[in-house]
Amino acid sequence: MILIVDDRPENIFSLRSILELHSFPVDAATSGEEALKKTLKQKYALIILDVQMPGMDGFEVAEILSGNSQTKDIPIIFLSAVSTEKKFITKGYNSGAIDYIIKPIDPDILLLKVKTFIRLYEQNRELNLMQENLRSEIEFRKKTEQQIQEKAQELHGILEAIPHIAFTASSTGIIDFVNDNWYQYSDSIAKFIPSHPDDPSISAQWNDAILSSRALETEVRIKRLSDDVYHYHLLSLLPVKENDSIVKWVGTYTDINEQKLAAKRKDEFLTIASHELKTPLTSIKAYVQLLDSVTPEKTDTKPFVDRTLKQVNKLDNLINDLLDISRIESGKLRFDLHETDFDQLADRTIEMLQQIYPDIEMHREGTAGVKVLANEVRLEQVIINFISNAVKYSPGSKELHVITKLSPGGKVYFGIRDHGIGISDKDRESIFNKFYRVSDSGSTPQGLGIGLYICAEILRRHDAEFGLESKLGEGSTFYFMLPLFKN
Ligand code: ADP
Repeated sequence: MILIVDDRPENIFSLRSILELHSFPVDAATSGEEALKKTLKQKYALIILDVQMPGMDGFEVAEILSGNSQTKDIPIIFLSAVSTEKKFITKGYNSGAIDYIIKPIDPDILLLKVKTFIRLYEQNRELNLMQENLRSEIEFRKKTEQQIQEKAQELHGILEAIPHIAFTASSTGIIDFVNDNWYQYSDSIAKFIPSHPDDPSISAQWNDAILSSRALETEVRIKRLSDDVYHYHLLSLLPVKENDSIVKWVGTYTDINEQKLAAKRKDEFLTIASHELKTPLTSIKAYVQLLDSVTPEKTDTKPFVDRTLKQVNKLDNLINDLLDISRIESGKLRFDLHETDFDQLADRTIEMLQQIYPDIEMHREGTAGVKVLANEVRLEQVIINFISNAVKYSPGSKELHVITKLSPGGKVYFGIRDHGIGISDKDRESIFNKFYRVSDSGSTPQGLGIGLYICAEILRRHDAEFGLESKLGEGSTFYFMLPLFKN
């Protein structure tokens, strides 16, 4: 918008006509005072200012405008009746653009000057805007940088205070901070704490974690610089995210040596105890079986002999499981795999289980019709465990489904679906771990939590995939998928 200031309405009229004809929006004031009032309310791109006016003249108006930060940059074109020295005209108005036109006005010259000044004003405004944006961008960056620094300092303070070895690394895995404890194990921030030569490589695992953006948790043995003894530590590496992208990694080493030694002592005890128990139990079992075979049916003692045999068998299974665990731990769970007809193996096992659980209806769905590479005894053990669990953890349910099919991936799928208590998502992740039991299974029977751990190990040795699907309160499906036998 252009403001025309002139005490003569006819002058305003002619100027307005010229400018409006060329699409410039125009406003007008008939005195200096009115012009000043208007500039406070409205932003003008240019003021065309008559020099000779009664009351406040053009120079005074310009002087006041130049003193106000809001108006000082508005370009001014003075209108003067007489040819006046430019130096004189610029009096009192030293900042901003300025020019003059002698009356009578030549419309072409006026338009040329107006266009130039408007363009100048626009450019100036854009420049100012850019400068303003730049200033706030710099402010914002400074503030963010300061916040990041404060956060990092806070984090470093916390990491210094904890008893663990702790460090942080950039999003690409370059270590940029280590706490004091680090230096008991490494002499430099640039040298990652070396782990036992027999432990899996940390750098490979770490690279994987960074590439997949996933947290890492692994057990490693490390030793103090002052020491020659390796201690077990749990190394955990967690990503720190901001707006869903990783900005940092925080790593800690927690000393778990005591727990590891205690677990080792417990395993050793279980191994010794189960071996010691196995020998006398084998004799007891043999004697009870003998007693059972010589006790005539329908005598008073027969039910007691039957019950004793049943309990002895339970104890025998339990001790066999414990022995299996110690074999797994010591890497001595060894068995061979042979060409095996899967359907025959499944039929035989289920038939045997049907006799143990005569009240449960086991619905068979599908057959495999193929051979697999398996150890029959061990695979039977897995099926027995899955089905026994399905019965055990489905109180009140009288049926389960046994599903056999060839999976699209060219494997034999075998699943047991029950209608039992089900398993929560949280428990599902750990259910195949050693000694893991669901803590809240209500009044349902509880075992030792070793059956599935052994199954998992057996299935791994078969190169099988395995898992479960489950919904709490609705039931579970435990399954495995075995590779086919290939000649
Ligand atoms: P155990 O049955 O001897 O405790 P397992 O290793 O066979 O040990 O099973 C571990 C845990 O998994 C069980 O304690 C039980 O809580 C849960 N579980 C196993 N099978 C099922 C199932 N079919 N339905 C619900 N829970 C199950």
